[in-house]
Amino acid sequence: MTQTLSLGIAGVAGRMGRQLVSTALQAGHKIAGGTELPDSPDRETDIAVLAGRADPIGVLPCTDPVDAAAGAQVWVDFTAPQATLAALHALRHTPTSAVVIGTTGFTPLQESQIAAAGSEFAIVKAGNFSLGINLLTAMTRLVAARLGEDWDIEIAETHHRHKLDAPSGTALMLGDAAAKGRAGRLDQLRRAPYDGPDARRQAGEIGFAVRRAGGVVGDHEVGFASEQEVLSLGHRALDRAVFAQGALKAAEWAMTQPPGLYDMEDVLGLKGISV
Ligand code: NAD
Repeated sequence: MTQTLSLGIAGVAGRMGRQLVSTALQAGHKIAGGTELPDSPDRETDIAVLAGRADPIGVLPCTDPVDAAAGAQVWVDFTAPQATLAALHALRHTPTSAVVIGTTGFTPLQESQIAAAGSEFAIVKAGNFSLGINLLTAMTRLVAARLGEDWDIEIAETHHRHKLDAPSGTALMLGDAAAKGRAGRLDQLRRAPYDGPDARRQAGEIGFAVRRAGGVVGDHEVGFASEQEVLSLGHRALDRAVFAQGALKAAEWAMTQPPGLYDMEDVLGLKGISV
């Protein structure tokens, strides 16, 4: 760690919220505050204890991002689309100038609202904060650029049974990289999961397959297939700590950036890599 950060963390009783608090405290960062829903059963529990630590830090979850962000340099938000947008709105009334967004499942309209907030905050938003997935994203772009349209592109993902949105934010990030590699747009090339009596794939489409099972943290595979050969690139997340570590790296980086909307490839310096 090169810098001690003061953080506001949204959704501190969630899977990622607890992980973020735990990883941040372990790394020596300070937690200025955290939020939870008004009806959360964890409102009266210290956020360090929620994160599985023995010693409380004297911070209870609150419901207002303005209170939780008081004294925070960076806001870290892995919650739900509406909650993240409401927090962005509220943060205008705080000195917090850097935001890390891990929430997935935004609609195109919500995505454009986040892009607009990039004029006020340095925002790092990523469907996945792991180093491995961001390298896989860069590789996907490169390979898609190299292989012609006679190579079909299929993206498969598996996540735990509690996950809400599908395909995952990471699968869409990989699809976006594949589309960009082909100088196209994912919203035009995206193919809904195959189903029904006439579900043939069309040339150039990017297909998605989704599985939900047990406690899987996150598996992703990008397959490129011609009539003669198949190339598979894959990633498996073994521990949520990898997302929290990446988010904290992004938080540190965001503090030094002017307002704008950035992603994890910016943080890791993976933009502009060519074959
Ligand atoms: P979760 O349901 O376990 O946690 C979300 C938490 O946010 C819950 O505790 C919920 O009560 C809280 N919350 C919801 N609305 C709120 C509000 N208005 N104010 C305060 N708290 C609120 O979910 P999770 O598994 O931790 O995932 C959260 C999000 O992060 C999802 O969108 C998921 O896809 C995403 N995610 C992203 C990455 C990444 O690397 N980008 C990794 C894992 C998960």
